Parts: sequence; C-alpha cells; structure tokens
Amino acid sequence: KTVLITGGSGFVAAHCLNAFLSRGYNVKTTVRSQSSAEKIKKSHAKYIAQLSFAVVPDVATPGGHDEAVKGVDGVIHTASPYLVNVDNNERDLLNPAINGTTSVLTSIQQHAPNIKRVVITSSFASIVDMDKNPRPGYTYTEKDWNPVTYATAANPSTPGVIAYLASKTLAEKAAWDFVEKNRPNFSVTTICPPMVYGPAYHTISSLDHLNTSSAEIYELINGSKKEVPPTGFFAFVDGRDVGEAHARAYETPEAGGQRYFCTAGGYTYQQICDIIREDFPEKRDLVPEGNAGEPYPDVYKVDNSKIKKDLGMAFRDLKTCIHDQVAEFIEIEQKT
Ligand code: NDP
Repeated sequence: KTVLITGGSGFVAAHCLNAFLSRGYNVKTTVRSQSSAEKIKKSHAKYIAQLSFAVVPDVATPGGHDEAVKGVDGVIHTASPYLVNVDNNERDLLNPAINGTTSVLTSIQQHAPNIKRVVITSSFASIVDMDKNPRPGYTYTEKDWNPVTYATAANPSTPGVIAYLASKTLAEKAAWDFVEKNRPNFSVTTICPPMVYGPAYHTISSLDHLNTSSAEIYELINGSKKEVPPTGFFAFVDGRDVGEAHARAYETPEAGGQRYFCTAGGYTYQQICDIIREDFPEKRDLVPEGNAGEPYPDVYKVDNSKIKKDLGMAFRDLKTCIHDQVAEFIEIEQKT
C-alpha cells in the first residue's frame, strides 16, 4: 500500500513519514525541489526502498498534484506555510494554505478515484478564539472553531500570527466544504495539533533556521531570551505523537469525517524553562529562570478525550517531550 504525504521536508511531515514507513507503507512525498528530496533520503535512509518523490514547486497551483496522486491509496496533506513573519498575509499564508488544500483534494477527485481516505494536518489554530484569550474556565474541544474571517486575515495591518491561524482555519473549512459540495469517493479526517515540540525526524541543517515551533524552544536555550516569554497557546503535543495520530486516523475507518484535537495537554513556557534548567545543568545559565515552580495559570483547558477514545492515542508528557528535544539540540550544537 502506498500513501502520498505532501510537504515531506517539514518538521511535522517527517514524523508522519516515520509513522507510515515504520508501519511498512510505501510513501511518496511531494517536495518543492530535488535538494529537499535528497535531505529526506538521508533522514529516512533506513526506509529508502519504500520512499519515492514527486516535485511540486507550489502547493497552491491548480492541477499541481494531478500526477502525484496517481497510483497511491491515500493522501496525508501536511504542506502549508507555518510562518508568522511574512510580507503579505494573502500571498504568503492564506493562498498556499487554502488553495493548497483545494488543489490536493481536486487532483484526488479527478485523477485518483481509488483513494478512500485523506488525512489533513489542521491545527489548534482552527479551534482557538484569540479574542477571548486566555478564557479562564473554558475547555476547548473539536466542537470549537476559530471565528476569524478572511477579510481580517488579509488586512495588511493584521499580525502574521493571526493570519497564520486564519490560514489554517480557512484551509480546514475549505476541506469540509469541498467534501460537502463534491461528495468525493474519499472521506476526510483532520488532525488539529497545538504547538508541536519534541525531537525532529528530519535533518536539521542549521539551528538558526529551525521550523517555527522548534525555534521557540531553541530560543530558550541559546541565550537570546532574558525573560520567560509569555505563553501564546496553552497546549502542546510531541511530534512523535502527531505522526502516530495521522497514521491511526488513516487506518481507522470510523475516523472518516472526523476532526481530532491532537493534544497532550496544557503547558506554559515557565514549565518548559523549569524542565530545561532541571534536566540540563550545563544550560542553566542561558535559560530564563522566571518564577520557577509557579502554579499553572487560570487559563483555558484542552480536552483530548475524543482522540484517545477513537484512535487509542496516548501522549508523551511535557518533560519527555522537552527533554528529548533539548538533548537533540545539544547533540547538534556539539557536532557543529
Ligand atoms: P515546516 O516549516 O517544517 O514545514 C512546512 C512544510 O510545508 C514544508 O514541507 C514546506 O516546504 C511546505 N510548504 C510551505 N509552504 C509551501 C508552499 N507554498 N508550497 C509548497 N510547500 C510549502 O512546518 P511544520 O512541520 O511545523 O508544519 C507542517 C504542517 O503542520 C503545517 O500544515 C502546519 O500548519 C501544521 N502544524 C504545525 C504545528 C507546529 O507546532 N509545528 C502545529 C499545528 C499544525 P519547504 O520545506 O520547501 O519550505
């Protein structure tokens, strides 16, 4: 059996690649360039015989996935920009996220009628309502939708982070609308992870150019933060569990048509700093101390009961996730 994973060069995608390859699937993955393909061949060298590539220079091009979807049994769509500093919200975030999703789904419907299941990497971005932050007493579940509009996100004065959240929200909505309007042969499952931390499965070429969520953790140990930063989103998940959730969603027939909040639970940057300072004495002086051991703040809670029940997921805790990620950063620092 073969699955297509879009955006194979990404942090989250590398975990998805691993989850499928380790289960024995053949995986075709889209990349924007041949050099990305070479990096994936290195990071997933153990599975080289199961791997193949399709070059798709821009995820949003209509028909861009027509060839890539041929001959595969299912699709995992992860490719989407996770950037918060952009020049143009529409061009750099909204278009690739939304049109990328519809491009993939349209290519499947027109060229791969055998495909029965599509799993899409959405986000807590499409669940959370930032205007109500930090919403004490509230518990977020899959039933919640970020109410942000296209007009707000496209406005040049809207901060990149809000436009990113909107890009994920509107891309997920576009997927559900596509299914409703077109009644394709396939069913869709969306996976909504919050901040994804933990070690990487892709090749990190430079600690100065990490993906957005990993960079947040590296900044806590490289001396660039003097204070504990304010926590933006009070929910996290380990990337290894995100890869696993995509594979389980793909393999579970009842997951068709479902949306899953894929989170291990709440966290704060203070807790992360406490873990790093405790586990890595050699980094202690570089990590902001803040108010060590402070009680968890009165903010919204997150509910992962649906994904645990339907997909049997268990999640790595914050200490394991951060410990393993920081250990990897230190290993890379020592090599370079
Ligand atoms: P990365 O930046 O590591 O990966 C992004 C991937 O998308 C890369 O493969 C990138 O290709 C590709 N991509 C971006 N823009 C385009 C485009 N215009 N055309 C084609 N490909 C494109 O980030 P993540 O791994 O974190 O993000 C992957 C997915 O996971 C996204 O959908 C993101 O929204 C989602 N997600 C991530 C979370 C996190 O905390 N990391 C949390 C929740 C959801 P290239 O390498 O060539 O740039």
